[in-house]
Amino acid sequence: MSTPAELRARAAELEQRVPPITAGPRTDDERMWLEKAAALRDEADQQEEREWIRTGRIPCSDCGTVVRTETLETLPAHNCIARQRARRAAADRATEK
Ligand SMILES: [Zn+2]
Repeated sequence: MSTPAELRARAAELEQRVPPITAGPRTDDERMWLEKAAALRDEADQQEEREWIRTGRIPCSDCGTVVRTETLETLPAHNCIARQRARRAAADRATEK
């Protein structure tokens, strides 16, 4: 079974194959890829939610940090902005190599 991260990576891959809407009407294939990508993202969300019900922990969709939370409406403070910056900086360093 795929992890949520793997599902989202596959979804992103599919979405990258589809040209921007300004490029003209979408083909049936392109519409299918987008639908499939949305389904993969849904599946990833559902997996994370099941994991949260079991463990009380869920990864923040903005920074990726796993936080313990009582509700999915709001996540507890976890230095989200700083963590997003750190993650972007790490990603930049990775692509520079
Ligand atoms: Zn966060």
